[in-house]
Amino acid sequence: MEDLIIIGAAPAGLTAGLYAARARLNTILLEKLSPGGQLITTDLVENYPGFPEGISGFELVDRMKRQVEKFELEIRNQEVVRLELNKGKKVIVTDREEFESKALILACGATPRKLGIQGEAIFTGKGVSYCATCDGPFYRDQEVAVIGGGDTAVEEALFLTRFASKVHIVHRRDELRATRLLQERGLASEKIAFIWDTIPTRITGSTAVEGVDLKNVKTGKEFHLPVEGVFAFIGYSPNNDLVEGQLELDEYGFVLTNNDMETSVPGVFAAGDIRSKLLRQVSTAVGEGATAAFAAERYIESLETG
Ligand code: NAP
Repeated sequence: MEDLIIIGAAPAGLTAGLYAARARLNTILLEKLSPGGQLITTDLVENYPGFPEGISGFELVDRMKRQVEKFELEIRNQEVVRLELNKGKKVIVTDREEFESKALILACGATPRKLGIQGEAIFTGKGVSYCATCDGPFYRDQEVAVIGGGDTAVEEALFLTRFASKVHIVHRRDELRATRLLQERGLASEKIAFIWDTIPTRITGSTAVEGVDLKNVKTGKEFHLPVEGVFAFIGYSPNNDLVEGQLELDEYGFVLTNNDMETSVPGVFAAGDIRSKLLRQVSTAVGEGATAAFAAERYIESLETG
């Protein structure tokens, strides 16, 4: 039986792994893709302390990965398909193996939310995108729409101005949710135009996106915006499929924990974007990862001392 299994190799999971490896816990970190999570597609991280010039998400992940490798953390590339979260041993079933562990840290993050409108699914990858860093360069000298008014929408819209001739931010209210600094940058950009109080109702095109139908929520007026790309940044849904029905979740499906990252099942901890919390950042994820690993270590010790 392992001491600890960590699911997810993004900042929270990698940090938990770093602390667990240094505490000499017998630990395996499971990741279905390559390490990094959403951070890997983040162009520039400007608010992670210690990097005054900013650092690319890719570079930051690479540094975290090299750091855990130095402490010989075992990372296995496997997808977890089922969990049995009991008070006693935890059972972790992957697409290749079955593990048992004394403690478990969930750091499986969150996934961009879908708009849920007609045309979104068929044009995904053909003009509909959830990642400006991945797809932005395809829209050189073209017009694109960004849906949303939070930090991600404004930050990604600013990134898209490097390529697109015009970026239309479509927001359902007349005030942005994004932090002040990003608001100022967005409003000052000559390439960004704001369409307030408006929601998308349908994405149109033949073989690829040719436009988006919009509706003003105050006046009810409907109109069409011709664009070649639609980028949706309307928040994230927790990757909670494995734990639904087994752990207490908040009303949006994020995992509830106490200050020590303990979930409703003893020996199961959660860290990073999957947690119910105020702020989803690299800086909060790493702190939670460290706390979760330390709390897991104490939990394992308590099992041994009875
Ligand atoms: P968010 O803060 O939840 O914002 C989502 C935005 O999408 C809001 O403006 C919301 O409108 C809008 N929205 C939600 N559902 C919608 C729908 N069905 N149709 C149209 N619009 C919809 O999400 P986020 O911007 O992805 O940020 C997530 C977290 O990451 C936040 O904690 C954020 O601070 C953090 N983050 C930080 C940075 C940074 O510090 N540089 C960068 C990226 C993200 P309303 O405003 O009307 O609710």
